[in-house]
Amino acid sequence: LKAIPYLGDECIRHRIVYDANRYCECIYCGKPADSREHIPSKVFLEKPYPDNLFLVPACKKCNNSFSADELYTWFIIQTLKKLYYENKYIESKMVKRRFKNHPVIIAKVNEDLREFLKEIIDRTKGNDIYNYKSKRIERILEKLAVGHSVFELSEGYYIEDEEWSVSNIAYAFAPSLSQNEIDDFEQAIDISNQLLPEIGSRVYDHIYVVQAMTSNENIGFQFVMLDWVDIQEEKYRYICANSVNEIVVKIVIDEFLYTSITFSKELHK
Ligand SMILES: [Zn+2]
Repeated sequence: LKAIPYLGDECIRHRIVYDANRYCECIYCGKPADSREHIPSKVFLEKPYPDNLFLVPACKKCNNSFSADELYTWFIIQTLKKLYYENKYIESKMVKRRFKNHPVIIAKVNEDLREFLKEIIDRTKGNDIYNYKSKRIERILEKLAVGHSVFELSEGYYIEDEEWSVSNIAYAFAPSLSQNEIDDFEQAIDISNQLLPEIGSRVYDHIYVVQAMTSNENIGFQFVMLDWVDIQEEKYRYICANSVNEIVVKIVIDEFLYTSITFSKELHK
């Protein structure tokens, strides 16, 4: 794994770049971090993994608490995708191949599958499975969004008197979205009128300026646009932008799950 040079503010470097010799805080709970984890979690990617994955400090307790829900999220995405495109259930072979060293995980996933399929049949009679909503999935999407905003914007991490908290989590599977909804979602974000992220934030790697010409050639408009970050083609991409009191992170997993997570700033005195 190649290390990514740190470009952010030096004052908060220790919060973001894990250093075993130095105290740093878990980006999820603010307690001392005693481990680090990849953002996004490898479960959402395929081997060979991209060499630009980054690490954030986290505590083992948070880290472990996400594992089962991450697998569940991966698993629901794969199940629905397969049903939609091939009209088949995910084979336990696929699950086994992926987690061949983890018999406990396979057992858990198989149990989740049975539960999930039962729930679909009971609740929707099979009609509405692509609107499936789950707190477990939301929890993971929020977690991923926190990681991306910490990395891209040097924001979203826990600090003493100021905290970003999630104010909206929306997600949908591709079959439940109209083409218009997808087109809207896909747009790069126009940040021309927004407060720009901290100078040196990684987000500047994804900013570009668009010179738009009107019919009167003397008047040109400039737009500052923020573009998607591709972690792995067809598997995982995201975009995040902040304004004074809001951070929006959009993520597409497997070109099948679309999500938009909004954080709002809360001040604690
Ligand atoms: Zn923690």
